Amino acid sequence: MRRGIISSTVANPEQHISDSPEARRYNRIRRRLSVADFLLGLGLLVALLATGWTARLRDVAYIGTGRIYVLAVFLYVFILTVLNTLLGLPLDYYGFRLEHRFQLSNQTRRSWVRDQVKGWLVGLVIGGLLAEIVYAIIRATPRFWWLIAWGVFIVLFVFFAQIAPVVLFPLFYKFKPLENEELKQRLMRLSERTGTRVKGVYEWKLSEKSRKANAALAGLGRTRRIIIADTLLEKYTDDEIEAILAHELGHHVHRHIPKGILVQAGVTFVGFWAANQILHYAMERLSWFDQLSDFANLPLLMLVAVVLSVMLMPLMNAYSRSNERQADRYSYAAIPSIIPFISGMNKLANQNLAERQPSRLVEVLFHSHPPIAKRIQAAEAWAREKSPAASRQSPG
Ligand SMILES: [Zn+2]
Repeated sequence: MRRGIISSTVANPEQHISDSPEARRYNRIRRRLSVADFLLGLGLLVALLATGWTARLRDVAYIGTGRIYVLAVFLYVFILTVLNTLLGLPLDYYGFRLEHRFQLSNQTRRSWVRDQVKGWLVGLVIGGLLAEIVYAIIRATPRFWWLIAWGVFIVLFVFFAQIAPVVLFPLFYKFKPLENEELKQRLMRLSERTGTRVKGVYEWKLSEKSRKANAALAGLGRTRRIIIADTLLEKYTDDEIEAILAHELGHHVHRHIPKGILVQAGVTFVGFWAANQILHYAMERLSWFDQLSDFANLPLLMLVAVVLSVMLMPLMNAYSRSNERQADRYSYAAIPSIIPFISGMNKLANQNLAERQPSRLVEVLFHSHPPIAKRIQAAEAWAREKSPAASRQSPG
């Protein structure tokens, strides 16, 4: 549940310069990497189902755990996550090298290996938990399992959104409360002007691993906070940081995290309904398995989730971009001038080697944030509308 301010794209403020070949190449490779990674994961699920290996894996899981169902589910998930991690490892390592090649990373190989192991463990714990819950519900109420599982998942979404900034993020990065008094004062004033309270601002020690900058709103209720990278605090003026904080405040004021959970709940409802239909079809028409509770059908369940989320990605990205535009508009109105907003955007673009003007297709398919060129244009348009006199004096 993180909402960063930066997209992978940005535009130069004054000149609206086009993207450097370097930025275009970097982003093109990154996109290909993510598509390849996705196809690999998809391929594994399809292969498990098409070859019948999933049934063999289930038998191994049963034998390995003395035929204890709950343990067998966990062992099955364990093997699946190991396979998935090993298969994706070469691509992940390539991604690690890529960041170094473009001078965007500080991370040592040792730290990267540690993160891979931690990422796998987090995946195992969360994946194992979800699988245990789903199959326990299937066994208890085979008829309405999908409806009940959907309800439980919503509770879990809220739970994970809440613990993410205090449990999950600190596994990978250090955080500490923001110490800069001047900035804290500014944020207080910003909050007062806009009639909202921020519970905390945390400095995110991103510099240990990356040269990129970012900021985000995270958490829910008592864990709600703005997190801001030390790489951003170092190199940006207080006015620019204020503009970025105002954007994050905009996410909070417009309740984007709770709304995101609601949207997720809708999507998951469709997902569980479809999963139930497809499981029944595979069981009754194709005879792939005898019972719904046969966890050899887990790859099929995951396939439904993966295919659905890819199909909905353009829609979800459009929703996210509209939230980002709303947070941007909040920022313009909250700060005295849009100039630091624009210069901050440009710094982010340069620092993160973001593509300022991707093609419309790339934007629709991949971008959760509007391209920086568009964000800057929107800010300028807003300022012109607000004070037509001022804009007449400035060129362009
Ligand atoms: Zn944002």
